[in-house]
Amino acid sequence: MQIADTILDLIGNTPLVKLHKVTEGVAATVLVKLEYLNPGGSAKDRIAVRIIDAAERDGLLKPGGTIVEPTSGNTGVGLALVAQQRGYKCVFVLPDKVGEDKRNVLTAYGAEIVVTPTSVAPDDPDSYYSVSDRLAREIPGAFKPNQYFNPNGPLSHYETTGPEIWRDTDGTVTHFVAGVGTGGTITGTGRYLREISNDTVRIVGADPEGSVYSGGTGRPYLVEGVGEDFWPGAYDPTVVHEVIAVTDADSFAMTRRLALEEGILVGGSSGMAVVAALRLAETLTSDDTVVVLLPDGGRGYLGKIFNDGWMRSYGFTNAPAGHTVADLLT
Ligand code: PMP
Repeated sequence: MQIADTILDLIGNTPLVKLHKVTEGVAATVLVKLEYLNPGGSAKDRIAVRIIDAAERDGLLKPGGTIVEPTSGNTGVGLALVAQQRGYKCVFVLPDKVGEDKRNVLTAYGAEIVVTPTSVAPDDPDSYYSVSDRLAREIPGAFKPNQYFNPNGPLSHYETTGPEIWRDTDGTVTHFVAGVGTGGTITGTGRYLREISNDTVRIVGADPEGSVYSGGTGRPYLVEGVGEDFWPGAYDPTVVHEVIAVTDADSFAMTRRLALEEGILVGGSSGMAVVAALRLAETLTSDDTVVVLLPDGGRGYLGKIFNDGWMRSYGFTNAPAGHTVADLLT
C-alpha cells in the first residue's frame, strides 16, 4: 500500500523531467524540477513546514496560535496549508493590487486576509509591512515567520531540495539554476550541492533585469516572486557563482514555450530560470547536466502571461501563441 497519512507527507520529492524542444541545439542535458507538484502548488510548501516546525520547537508558536505574515503569494498558501493541518490561525497582510483569485486561495484554506493600500511608503503606518508588524505585536500568541530573514527557509532546501536533486541524478548534476526571490531556494539547495560534490557543482542564479541580485537598483519588472530591491538575510551570495539577468519579455516568451513545446504549464519565474539555464547550457558540453528549479505552476497566471491582451498591453510581442483553426485548414 502507498497511502500518505496527511497532505503534509506529500510535500517534497518532486520529479525531474528532461527538456527536449526548447533545448534543441544544446549539447548539455537540461532537467527541470517541478515544484508545482507540491500539494500547495509551489516550492514554498517546503519552507512553510520547516518554519512552523522550528517555531513550535522554539516555543514561538503554541497550540491555537496565529501566524501573521505579509505575503500575497506562494508562501501564504504553504503557511495556510500547514496551519490548517496543525490547528493554527493565519492572518495574511496583502497590498490591494493583489488579485481576487490569489486572495481566495488563502481564504479557501481558512486564512484571514487584511488588505492594505499599495501606494504608500514602506514606513507608512498603513503599509503592508507596518500593518503586519502591528498585528504580530497585538494579536496574543502571534508568530511572524519573516520569510526574508528566517534561516529555516534556506535550511528546508538544504535538507530536502538539494538531497533530492543529488539522489535523482545519481550525483551527475553539474550545474544548478534557480530564480532568486528571498534567496532561500538557491542558498539552501546550492550549499548542499556544493558540499556533497566537493564543490564541483556550479550554482547559477536567475534574476529579473533591474533587481539587486544582478546589479540593478530595484527598477520595476513584472515577473512575480523573484528579484528584490534589498538584500534579504535568507540569501547568501557566497553560495552563488553567477547571476544571470533576464528581461520580462524573454521570461514570458519562454514561459509560453514551456507550455506549447514541452507540455509544462508553469509561472513566469520558471520561464525566467529556463532562459538563464539555456544561456548557461549553450556554453557547456554533453558531459554536463543542468538542473533548473521551476517554483510554481501556470494556473495562477492565466489572466496575465497566458492572456494575449494582457501581454500586448505591456508590449510583449515576442510571445509565441498556439495554432489557430485557420492554420489547420490551410
Ligand atoms: N518564483 C516564485 C513564483 C516564488 O513565489 C518565489 C518565492 N518568492 C521564487 C520564485 C523565489 O524563491 P526564493 O524565495 O526561495 O528565492
